[in-house]
Amino acid sequence: MDSDTRILCFRHCCSKSIFCKNILDVCPLCKLLIVNFEVEPFVIPYPYANAMHEPNAVVVRPSRGDFLTNYDIAHDLHIGISNSQGIVFEYDKEGLIINDCSRWTSCIAISIIPSSWDNHWNETLKAMLKDSKWRSENYNELSMNCYNFVIEFMNKLKYMDMDFVDKETMCDKLILPRIRDAVRYNSLFIKLKAHEFFIS
Ligand SMILES: [Zn+2]
Repeated sequence: MDSDTRILCFRHCCSKSIFCKNILDVCPLCKLLIVNFEVEPFVIPYPYANAMHEPNAVVVRPSRGDFLTNYDIAHDLHIGISNSQGIVFEYDKEGLIINDCSRWTSCIAISIIPSSWDNHWNETLKAMLKDSKWRSENYNELSMNCYNFVIEFMNKLKYMDMDFVDKETMCDKLILPRIRDAVRYNSLFIKLKAHEFFIS
């Protein structure tokens, strides 16, 4: 996250939160010079990361465009798996794609396992890459796509209850909660493009 995408939140004179990019001198609610805060300014957690810095994670990005500036919840998502070095493995109509890092600089990275599982995560991924079924000619938009790759990986990993029968169950459990956070962030970001602050 750079200073362009940073969002701050604070409270001054009441329970309303004020969101802004830079701390204000005057409170927009009571119009007084700000000396103290009811809640000290804090940075809203940025929902996106560079996969390169997110080892052993499930990574998600929009199929087209990027999350922050033109994502809508109805848009298609693309999903992959990063290994211990932050190298992303993904399956699409081209087949298995490895380390297309420039397309994963602003993704949602979902960490699932504790570090004691790192080795098993990598070995599971390695074993999957040997499977010839992840070839481009087997790709099917509906029945054999990036989700099938990740679902099979999670089912082979066998970590706690992280196994999924289909795309819908995986989305509900794993992806949607993070997408909701991201969409909330995007809407604040858009509001603060046009206004100095936003009150909630
Ligand atoms: Zn105030």
